[in-house]
Amino acid sequence: VRTFRANFCKKNGLLTLSVIAVLTGCTLGFMLRGTQLSTQAKIYFSFPGELLMRMLKMLILPLITSSLMSGLSSMESKACCRMGVLTVTYYLWTTFIAVVVGIVLVIIIKPGIGTEMESHRLGGGPVMTSADALLDLIRNMVPSNLIEATFQQYKTDLVPILKVPTRTVQPSYVYVIPDENHPKGRTVYLELTPAPEVTYKTSPGTSQQMNVLGIVIFSATMGLLLGRMGERGAPLVNVCQCINECVMKIINAAVWYFPFGIIFLVAGKILDMQDPSTLGKKLGWYGITVLSGLFVHGLILLPLFYFLLTKKNPFTFIRGLLQAMVIALATSSSSATLPITMKCLLENCHVDRQIARFVLPVGATINMDGTALYEAVAAIFIAQVNEYELDFGQLVTISITATAASIGAAGIPQAGLVTMVIVLTSVGLPPDDITLIVAIDWILDRFRTMINVLGDALAAGIIAHLCRKDFPLGETGKVKSRIHT
Ligand code: ASP
Repeated sequence: VRTFRANFCKKNGLLTLSVIAVLTGCTLGFMLRGTQLSTQAKIYFSFPGELLMRMLKMLILPLITSSLMSGLSSMESKACCRMGVLTVTYYLWTTFIAVVVGIVLVIIIKPGIGTEMESHRLGGGPVMTSADALLDLIRNMVPSNLIEATFQQYKTDLVPILKVPTRTVQPSYVYVIPDENHPKGRTVYLELTPAPEVTYKTSPGTSQQMNVLGIVIFSATMGLLLGRMGERGAPLVNVCQCINECVMKIINAAVWYFPFGIIFLVAGKILDMQDPSTLGKKLGWYGITVLSGLFVHGLILLPLFYFLLTKKNPFTFIRGLLQAMVIALATSSSSATLPITMKCLLENCHVDRQIARFVLPVGATINMDGTALYEAVAAIFIAQVNEYELDFGQLVTISITATAASIGAAGIPQAGLVTMVIVLTSVGLPPDDITLIVAIDWILDRFRTMINVLGDALAAGIIAHLCRKDFPLGETGKVKSRIHT
């Protein structure tokens, strides 16, 4: 028994600590809700959690660039092309399936029918159309300035929303305003201004986000070209490999801080949460619909695809990912979780290093099954609340725009809430009606981020299996770079 316990603790120690941290954070958060903590005290209280977020964000840029550049530089063009096509096809397919699951569930459960909910339409400001969103997506693929891409603000940047604790959000304080920083001045910013009697809390470090998509595209191109340059490209590839190894070492050390950070991250969020009793029954049903959809997609359909395509047990694979899923739950950000997903995939799931280095960063940027599902459910829920009948053509439009909107959403907290404007406007629903669902968005965001992360990781497992002939040295990831041999 003692040996078993020792082995169990060794293998699952960190995971167990992280789960305990989530539970402790919830308990602490609910206990402190009764006490009237000042804004300043809350900022101090949330500080360890803020540090955790900063650590994770710090690792994104070196991890993505070094992974893609060193990973792709050592691949044959044919293998690379095959892996790229398979990855993108799989991502699009599973995202679309997620949307269909969401649509079917929301039509069956009908959470918005018969509701007394008021919709608050303020109109005003310009609205982002699907065409604008597509242009934004393409624009972000081609960053005009790489340095700027590491902290630029346009696209689906949620800064104003992140600045406001959810409990202070009042529907009538939602405005749509134009973004002056945007090159064309067209991107929509949704600014949630707090009720006058509540203090405005800004959270440091959330004011600038990376254009991860642009960085992924640039690093992948560089990686491919470096591989073709032979000896001349070798020094840079070596540098990237060194950076990659160092980042993984930093991650291995930093993970031991995570359980401590998680406690305060979760507790801080619960402190700011709106009183659940004011949410209303219909919003509750809407939340249940989204969560059931995420459950069906993440724990039934995705594992089924994994099993059908690899003939391996999906739950053994998912077990290795639990640590990443806990971090996704705590941070609501698939980009911030990327370092941990990479660690789990390499160390616990033994996915080929080269495949993981490509499939994961791309997935964290464009593959968001949970977000797509949620966007479809939310749009139809809003239609139901407005007693707006959607015909079959409109459902098809919702499924296509929800897929596109999830691709355009950044891997940051509540990005899906903003890109949902595209889905709503595509079928003529009032974009300001996102105020109906904003109160519980932060909690749903955590669960959809878990499914986003799970989707990326399972995809890496599937692609590794499908491309195993192209990577004969396989799972240990010890395929040597062409340059070095
Ligand atoms: N928070 C999600 C993620 O990072 C995006 C979203 O759905 O808002 O994956």
